Amino acid sequence: MTDDNGIQLDIEQLRERYRIEQQKRLRTDGISQYQELSGTYEEYDRDPYVEPGFTREAVVESTDVVIVGGGFAGMLTAINLAKLGIRNFRIVEKAGDFGGTWYWNRYPGCMCDVESYTYLPLLEETGYMPTERYASATEIFGYCQLIGRTFDLYDHALFQTVITGTTWDDATHRWQVETSRDDRIAARFIVIAGGLLHKAKLPGIPGIEDFAGRAFHTSRWDYGYTGGSAREPMDGLAGKRVGIIGTGATAVQAVPQLAKTAGELFVFQRTPSAVGFRGNGPTDEAWYRGQAPGWQTERIINFTHAVTGTQPDTDLVNDGWTASMWVDTQKLPESDVEAADLERIDFETMEAFRRRIDEIVEDPTTAERLKPWYGKHCKRVCFHDEYLPAFNRPNVHLVDTDGRGVERITAAGVVVDGVEYPLDCLVFASGFEVTTDFDQRVGFDPIGRDGTPLREHWSHGARTLHGVLAGSFPNMMMIGILQAGFGTNFVHFLSKSSEHVANVIAACTAQGIETIEAAPAAEDEWLGVLYGAAAGAARYVFTCTPGYYNSELGAPNEKTARTLVYPGSLLDYAGYLERWRDAGDMPGAVVSLSETTAG
Ligand code: NDP
Repeated sequence: MTDDNGIQLDIEQLRERYRIEQQKRLRTDGISQYQELSGTYEEYDRDPYVEPGFTREAVVESTDVVIVGGGFAGMLTAINLAKLGIRNFRIVEKAGDFGGTWYWNRYPGCMCDVESYTYLPLLEETGYMPTERYASATEIFGYCQLIGRTFDLYDHALFQTVITGTTWDDATHRWQVETSRDDRIAARFIVIAGGLLHKAKLPGIPGIEDFAGRAFHTSRWDYGYTGGSAREPMDGLAGKRVGIIGTGATAVQAVPQLAKTAGELFVFQRTPSAVGFRGNGPTDEAWYRGQAPGWQTERIINFTHAVTGTQPDTDLVNDGWTASMWVDTQKLPESDVEAADLERIDFETMEAFRRRIDEIVEDPTTAERLKPWYGKHCKRVCFHDEYLPAFNRPNVHLVDTDGRGVERITAAGVVVDGVEYPLDCLVFASGFEVTTDFDQRVGFDPIGRDGTPLREHWSHGARTLHGVLAGSFPNMMMIGILQAGFGTNFVHFLSKSSEHVANVIAACTAQGIETIEAAPAAEDEWLGVLYGAAAGAARYVFTCTPGYYNSELGAPNEKTARTLVYPGSLLDYAGYLERWRDAGDMPGAVVSLSETTAG
């Protein structure tokens, strides 16, 4: 078969190649191949961006809402609550400031891979103009601080504070929240907005604890060691042998910067990323300032349509994302003809990524090894104009592990195929926990009605209504992807979710509803909706190489069978939330009225 660019695509051969590459990577330990940054690895989790020794008085208070997390989800929840007249809330955040992922990820080259005009929320309200089409992490972190100031969130925040326990008190109808700084906060509601990529993980490579050089995770970058900053060259790496494990979206951004200053850079690859054209550039101020009111919402919705296969008439963003995700090739086909079409489109999209490598990478062997052999929905595709050229530099070495991963780490360095690569510095670009147990990811185990911990209540798998409310955990709301939505523009999802949560809290307040939780039957019904929507994705996923998108293709069990994300467009997911709110009587929720209202 010949694609639009006149290149022969042998569908049978591609299917077989994908199958072989998947088989190489299948393993029995699934997500448990990774380890937490705790115990022996606790030092990896230390916040390098705050001065040690911070102390403050413990806070003892009663509030309407405790919001867990000061990233975009937490900030947007707070802003939406305030807009609805609820101003008595606390934001509890582990980091030293707002920003969430943009606080932690300060690695060199870190930037947003979604266009800033659609990714950064509230641009029309703040009047801020992003300096570039794809904004740097430094700028986004600064924007988070600006949001904090603009919407008066700082007075509500308790930073460098970790929640240690939340217990529902059925006598007072309050959550009792305890923290690492001895705070005792009684709250009518808690909103757990802990983030999608909140918890960094390390690969379980034998000998990892033996490495004698400097090692850190990308989300805790040690500029003290590397020198430089997110914007300045890392002169501390001059003459040093640096290794980076991982070639996902983070490494794609960090490698070009490391390549500029490291004496030698070794990139240890298990599975290559697809890396398309980026084309970043400064914002055209005249264009930006000339946008009509309401432009941002229109652009955000337009982008989400364009990357979920619900093609808008005009592609307003028109970038690598919209070009490659224009058709949702993992949807359930209605006929054999459609199935063949979807498969061909997917192969063509990935073939274009592979051809780009041949055009840029000079050494044919390196080019071949950098090629991704899986479907476009299997892993997050990347867009970068310096990653592939970095492999043309004499100081950059791709160490491909042919899908097996790094064999061993020693005191001196990293071993692949029996060859030891001595290193001074080792960077783990090994990603974040996404599908581990909820309480493990958020860092505390809420105790619900009757003293039951959430971990125990969900021992057979998560039970929620829309991924937001849970039975037996009154007045607890979750903002996350578990049994909820997801999107390429994740902040669009967070905007919709936080709006929902704030509206539910406001509706409860207005209607005198003292407690709200999900009814078990409604949780079951929602699971049925998720299963129905997941049929296409489930079929597609079994052609993929493992990764966090598919829980490392681990063997399913009753728990993982419930660890689902609504697989369609986040706008479809948001539609469920909106219809539920519009119904007016909170269908599927069990509510109790306050005594005055009931009386
Ligand atoms: P990922 O989980 O995508 O990548 C982890 C990498 O580590 C993979 O390449 C993985 O290989 C590799 N790895 C794991 N174990 C081993 C091993 N034993 N030996 C060798 N390699 C190993 O994490 P990232 O931090 O790169 O990205 C996570 C997510 O963060 C992205 O998907 C994206 O959603 C987000 N992100 C967003 C950005 C943005 O611009 N908005 C920028 C950067 C990240 P394998 O693939 O084989 O598992």
